[in-house]
Amino acid sequence: MRAAVMYGAGDVRVEDRPDPKIVKPADAVVRVVAACVCGSDLWPYQSMPVTDTGRPMGHEFLGVVEETGAEVTGLKTGDLVLAPFTYSDNTCDYCAKGLHISCRNGGRYGFDGVDGGQGEAVRVPYADGTLVKLPVAADSALLPSLLTLSDVMTTGHHGAVTAGVGRGDTVLVVGDGAVGLCAVIAAKRLGAERIVLAGRHEARTELGRDFGATDVVAERGEEGLARIRELTGGVEKVIEAVGTRQALDTALGAVLDGGTISRLGAPQYELGPLGRAEFMRNITLTGGASPARAYIEQLLPEVLDGTITPGRVFDRTFALDRAPDAYRAMADRQVLKALIAP
Ligand SMILES: [Zn+2]
Repeated sequence: MRAAVMYGAGDVRVEDRPDPKIVKPADAVVRVVAACVCGSDLWPYQSMPVTDTGRPMGHEFLGVVEETGAEVTGLKTGDLVLAPFTYSDNTCDYCAKGLHISCRNGGRYGFDGVDGGQGEAVRVPYADGTLVKLPVAADSALLPSLLTLSDVMTTGHHGAVTAGVGRGDTVLVVGDGAVGLCAVIAAKRLGAERIVLAGRHEARTELGRDFGATDVVAERGEEGLARIRELTGGVEKVIEAVGTRQALDTALGAVLDGGTISRLGAPQYELGPLGRAEFMRNITLTGGASPARAYIEQLLPEVLDGTITPGRVFDRTFALDRAPDAYRAMADRQVLKALIAP
């Protein structure tokens, strides 16, 4: 099969790899129908050390079940399924409390002999626990929005849930990438009345307005903070969807004492302010990697009936062989989120 493999920063290749086969009885092999490039794929694209072996890429995909292992009971050949961005057994203590990202038996695509999603097929471990059957045909116009439930929309939702967004709230979303825009959708559906989106890429913030943002702040740093305070007087709920220290500082500067910051962006820093100043302000720092599997059933009906349309974050489709172009276009910020069609 063909699949995208990263060999170092800026070096993504599409190459022939062994066709996935059932290895363990709980596995399924899924033929990929749609996949995409994640904002988090851009971090290794900028910084990954050169490797000879390469790393299969992609963790967001949906596709058709081709083969199932002997223990798989809930899926059959021909089912259209969605894969959350990590696999999980859906039975351990962490999964039972909805923290599938920490599954005792879980793991990541592209590691430990598991294929990446940016390829023609994937062996999915713990298929019964991981995959969600989709009640649409493989040519449905809803596929892009359904694909966002693999990661980006469920991640935005995680931000709104962990920030405690509720009816009538004022929420600040820092970042106009696909996760930030999905966080706007999530905050609105949980009842936020005022949603301030901090981002300076106009096409993206316009989409954010369509999704429910009531205000856009394009300025950065102190100027941006002043504008946020002027608009809101400070906010109690902040969703940080970038991952840089600057974005965290914006969140800390904008949040009111006693407020909550939920972090969604994969942090590109190890140290942050956790000292006396933050202690005195009673700020709650929450968020983290989304347990996507826990949220899919909850959001699926609203994608199916068109209440939410997160698939609008995809602004260009690339054939699998053009995956290197998809990475480049996203890294250059010419494309918000690239869909990959094998
Ligand atoms: Zn588990």
